[in-house]
Amino acid sequence: MSAPGWEFVRRIVSVDEIVERVWCDRIEALGSFWVDDPPRDVASQLAKFLKEGAARPPWPAVATAYAELAGERLAGVDLDGITRVISADETEADRNHPLERLSRMLADRLQLPRPLHFIRRRTARLPMRNVDRLRGYDRLRDRVDFVLTDLQVRRAGGPRRILLVDDILCLGASMRVYGAALKTACGAERVIGINIAATRFRGGDDGWDELRLDLDRFLEIARGVRGVGGDAFDDVWVSTADRTYHADPRCRLHIPAGDYRSLRFLAAGRNMPCSGCARREPAPWWRLRGVRRREG
Ligand SMILES: [Zn+2]
Repeated sequence: MSAPGWEFVRRIVSVDEIVERVWCDRIEALGSFWVDDPPRDVASQLAKFLKEGAARPPWPAVATAYAELAGERLAGVDLDGITRVISADETEADRNHPLERLSRMLADRLQLPRPLHFIRRRTARLPMRNVDRLRGYDRLRDRVDFVLTDLQVRRAGGPRRILLVDDILCLGASMRVYGAALKTACGAERVIGINIAATRFRGGDDGWDELRLDLDRFLEIARGVRGVGGDAFDDVWVSTADRTYHADPRCRLHIPAGDYRSLRFLAAGRNMPCSGCARREPAPWWRLRGVRRREG
C-alpha cells in the first residue's frame, strides 16, 4: 500500500520499459570516477569527497566549484526546474543532504526555483556498490529493478524541462528510473541529467570518451571561495607506503612506488605531513599578501 498521493513507480512504468528506452534527453558528467585504490586521479577523490565530506570545512568550496562547472556545462540549456536523485541513505529528500545543498547551489547558479521533489522510498537501502549482484558493467536491468524496489512518485504537474542532479553516475539506472517517473507521472517533457562524475569501466572504453574534469578551472573556483584555508587546495603527493604526504614529489623522503597525486585537504587526516617538505608552517608572505604562487 502506498500513502495517499504517492504511487509505486513500478505500477506506472515497468522495468522493461525503463531499460528499453533512454528516458533522459541528455546526460552530462563533469568528470570521471575511477574505482581504484590508491585513487587514479584527483577528480575521483573530489567526487568521493563531495559525497562523503560534507562536514569538513572545504566542502562548500568543492560544492561551489562543481556547481559552477555544472552551470557552465549547462549554459544555454532551456530549463524551468530542478530535482535530484534520492540517495541510498535517504527515504525522502533531506534538506541538509550534500546532494540537496549542491542542487540548491546549482539552482541559484542557473536562476531556477529551489529544487522540487517528486520521489521518495519507504526504507533507506544499501548503496548499489555494496550489493554483489549489482556489480559489473552489464547489470543495468538488475540495477533498475533495485532502484525501483519501493520507490514512489507523487503524481503532480511539475516543470516541463527539468534538470535531474546526481553525484556519481554508475550505469545510469537512477537517471533512467527518475527520467521515466518524471515523464510518465509528473508531466516533464525534457529531462536533462547532470552528474558530478561518471564511474568508468573497461579501462575507459565505455562510451564516455575522455571525460576529464577541468581541474584547473575547478581549483581556481575552489581557491577563490571565502573562508577556505589558503593551502587546502595545494597539490600534494601521498606516499601510500608510509602514509605521508609531500608538497614536493622530488622530496627525498617521498616513496614513489604506489604514490598518488592529491590535494592537501584530501590527504591530511589519513596521512601525516612529511617532516621534510610538508610541515605545517605559518602562511608564507606571498599568501598573506594574496600573491598567487606560480603553479609548478
Ligand atoms: Zn617530503
